[in-house]
Amino acid sequence: MSGTLRVDNGPTIAIVGAGFSGVATTARLLSEARGPGRIVMINRSGPTARGVAYGTRSEGHVLNVPAGRMSAFPEDEDDFLRFAAGQMAGVTAGSFLPRSLYGAYLDHVLSRAAGSATGTILETAIGEVATIESDRAGHHLRFVDGRVIAADWVVLAVGNYPPMDPSFVDPDFARSARYIGDPWVSGALDRIDPGERVLLLGTGLTMLDVAIGVGGRAGRMTALSRRGIVSTAHRDPGQAPSGDHLPTDLLTGDPTVVDCLRSIRRQVALDRSRGGDWRDVVGALRQITPALWQRLSDRERGRFLRHLRPFWDAHRHRAAPATARALDELRAGGRLVVVAGTVLRIETAANGLAARIRRRGGGEEGVMFDRLVNCTGPASRVALVRDPLIQSLLAANRIRPDRWGLGLETSASLEILGGDGVPAERLFYVGPLLRAQHWEATAVPELRLHARAVARTVAQRAGLQGAAGPVHRAPFGQRGLGSGEAGDRDPVG
Ligand SMILES: Cc1cc2nc3c(=O)[nH]c(=O)nc-3n(C[C@H](O)[C@H](O)[C@H](O)COP(=O)(O)OP(=O)(O)OC[C@H]3O[C@@H](n4cnc5c(N)ncnc54)[C@H](O)[C@@H]3O)c2cc1C
Repeated sequence: MSGTLRVDNGPTIAIVGAGFSGVATTARLLSEARGPGRIVMINRSGPTARGVAYGTRSEGHVLNVPAGRMSAFPEDEDDFLRFAAGQMAGVTAGSFLPRSLYGAYLDHVLSRAAGSATGTILETAIGEVATIESDRAGHHLRFVDGRVIAADWVVLAVGNYPPMDPSFVDPDFARSARYIGDPWVSGALDRIDPGERVLLLGTGLTMLDVAIGVGGRAGRMTALSRRGIVSTAHRDPGQAPSGDHLPTDLLTGDPTVVDCLRSIRRQVALDRSRGGDWRDVVGALRQITPALWQRLSDRERGRFLRHLRPFWDAHRHRAAPATARALDELRAGGRLVVVAGTVLRIETAANGLAARIRRRGGGEEGVMFDRLVNCTGPASRVALVRDPLIQSLLAANRIRPDRWGLGLETSASLEILGGDGVPAERLFYVGPLLRAQHWEATAVPELRLHARAVARTVAQRAGLQGAAGPVHRAPFGQRGLGSGEAGDRDPVG
């Protein structure tokens, strides 16, 4: 590598976001790093190590993945289990534990990694990064309040975005107190008064959380989605999965979604004939889903998203058994009805909200509600996300949303691709927007793999994996821009 070398106290790595992805990447970097360096973890929502999913204080909000699969470290599956067993009695690998406990686990993971780091130090900063300017000297992360942090490497772990407003919500209605556009905003659901008629838009896991959260106080709730398919339940913790349930023919030839569906159904029927459970087949698919997604042509991806996505989501993103039982009780007691249909329009009236609904396969009807809660889940259509950082990167042509509105395009090493398709220099992404490239990138079992990959790449390329000592770095901008190569690796360490 040509160019003048400079000697200093090691690279600065900025991690933007302290939800699961930011914490898992930071902890991994701290444990991989051998040389001197500095990691600055920046989080906008104040306390570190929480994020939308695990910031909840409600004990009723439980993880939708069993404890045995929630370790932040894929090579140490029991890490979360050990932590949880130290906090509460009766924990097993099949337990569905409170999400707030998982937030505490992330705090623990971070402080343990910082405590045992050799040479690399961790700093945290609270604030929102609004723009990232990059030049030959490195990256400059500018906060909304004007502060600037300089960094050599940046990992964006900016996570989940609030749900998009449905098309029938106009700006006036969006401001109405009767509309709860983001149920995860602290205190948002407190607006629902006892006995109120509530329309829940969406029938996935967010709807389940909201229905159970407000079910004791709300009046009749109506959950509505185009197909009215509700998330299925995990098996009870006692029933362990067994054997190999992966359909063998899925990764051959040029698959179509119809071929895949047939093959999965055949495997489910075979398993059932042996006393097995469809969940084992869906669970087994997880290990090949990214490869399968990458093999599908654009046409086939489009077909999957148009016709099969709701079925996939309902079977793949399952609810904890207790959550599913609580929902069944609400339905059996007539407190919650699930409707397949579409909201055509909604207006505020003197006595509530007047909604015009078209039932799937049926006619139109007018229904009155008191509140509407948007339960459509986190937004992934990057171009429409109202977020200063995302919008500034988009405006500068430094990120490229995928054509399906699933997330961001990245290189094989998870560098962010610019609008021109070229991987950004020393700028990475970990988090749910990897769905664009991997489809399966929402939950901990997948995100921890991505966090490990990014941390290892950054540690290696930043020269942090060598023996402790001064680091020699080439100035920014001297590496070839192609992804995957270690062209900027520390030539000494
Ligand atoms: C309600 C809910 C429940 C879930 N439950 C589970 C579960 O039980 N099990 C499971 O495996 N998965 C679950 N998930 C999936 C979830 O996506 C992942 O598990 C994980 O939480 C994603 O973490 P993240 O760090 O990528 O994103 P997030 O948790 O969203 O964290 C991103 C962080 O970045 C910060 N940030 C964003 N932009 C900026 C900026 N510009 N400047 C500074 N900070 C910024 C945010 O404030 C936030 O703290 C759940 C998701 C949701 C929404």
